Amino acid sequence: MRLFTGGILTETNTFSPLPTGLASFELDPPSNSLRDLVAACCKERQWTHLSGLIADAHPGSAIARTAYETLRDRLLDQVKAALPLDIVLLDLHGGMVAQGYDDCEGDLLMRIRAIVGDECVVGARLDPHSQFSDDMVRPSDLLCFFKENPHTDISQRAKDLLRLAIDTAKKRIRPVISTFDCRMADVFQTNREPMQSFVNRLREMEGKNGILDISLVHGFRRADTPLMGTHMVVITDNDPELGEKLAEELGMEVFAMRGNAAQPVVPLDEAVTLAMATEGPTILADLADNPGGGAPGDSTYIFNAVRTAGARRIAFGYLVDPLALDYAFEAGVGAKLTMRLGGKACSLSGDPFDLAVEVKGLQHNAALTSVDVPIGRAAWLAHEEIDIVVIGVRWQTYTPDLFTQFGIDLMRKQVIIVKSGQHYHPYFHYITDDDIVVDAPGVCASDWRNMPFQRVKRTIWPFSDDPFKSDFEEP
Ligand SMILES: [Zn+2]
Repeated sequence: MRLFTGGILTETNTFSPLPTGLASFELDPPSNSLRDLVAACCKERQWTHLSGLIADAHPGSAIARTAYETLRDRLLDQVKAALPLDIVLLDLHGGMVAQGYDDCEGDLLMRIRAIVGDECVVGARLDPHSQFSDDMVRPSDLLCFFKENPHTDISQRAKDLLRLAIDTAKKRIRPVISTFDCRMADVFQTNREPMQSFVNRLREMEGKNGILDISLVHGFRRADTPLMGTHMVVITDNDPELGEKLAEELGMEVFAMRGNAAQPVVPLDEAVTLAMATEGPTILADLADNPGGGAPGDSTYIFNAVRTAGARRIAFGYLVDPLALDYAFEAGVGAKLTMRLGGKACSLSGDPFDLAVEVKGLQHNAALTSVDVPIGRAAWLAHEEIDIVVIGVRWQTYTPDLFTQFGIDLMRKQVIIVKSGQHYHPYFHYITDDDIVVDAPGVCASDWRNMPFQRVKRTIWPFSDDPFKSDFEEP
């Protein structure tokens, strides 16, 4: 058997002020759970693994057209050179928009199918914060989205996809993808009810009665395209009737959970009052400035608000400020200087703040070790009991690794401000369960429905109160 792996991964926030060009992509990262799993499987079975391009960019605005086409064509050339192939497995984020392309994944999958022919198994692993289209479904045998959000099942979904792909190639199953448009857009957190039970039920249904795999495509609400929205995906063993029925049933269950599937956000002033009422630590999660959603990671609203309220024991990170990082490295460990921090990238970054700090630590090769993410340079700046970790590349505060590597004692803080909306949760849980998702201004502000959408379908909730009823009212 001959198996090909590759992928282009990014999530496009069409409202983001941050450009996404070729240099935004990390090429062929040292580890990738899908590619590495296929490599190990092929080695064990003495099959041939052909490893193609993997290009991964942090969320930003629509990719420059030439950048997308360059990466796509490189991948397509590799697929052509690898023919004949039995299985092509792609690692895609989903939700990738380029200038001139609303649906990069559909474009890529259609082109790959045209190259490999009808007999080859084509499948993809995706993030549920994806757009969804017929052009993605038609050329694909298998589309397996992460079930968990926060995404704790990334490796598991690679295993699921590979197992199903091998079974398909060996003609043990004939996967058929059925879908249902839930006509909504929302946030779904599977580490809390009602989504936790829902996802557990999906898992229980799989592997019996002809049901092979089930995914909920949450959708990505910050993409202004007609493809934005939530979809149910059921893959059956050649039983489209069952697939469609189940996708509709489950999809309507999801629709019934609208507005009730995520941790509520708390207005900034209320969040500050709550945090100041206890000794702490309280985590204030800066959803609106989450680099994982296409924000710059340099906004100052929460930090300035807790300082104004009188907080003294603060940990703040990871603040994306390449200029401040340059200054810290130039000054060196032990240097004391007054720095202007944050508030630089765009109008939603807030006002910068000036602070007399000591450079307490510098790292050239910092990493979020718990999740295997290289960060590069990082600086620890301290002012009395305020500790700030500054980085130069956009990464959300997925884990507390940079704080702990510098030796910052988070337990002693009253307030911990993180640049993340929810993915921090499993990794900061050992410090405290007092965490508040803050509704502050920012590129990813929670009040997303008032973003200047122009192209999104207005027939989905919450733009429409009753999107299923509108069928009968509108011809
Ligand atoms: Zn996601």
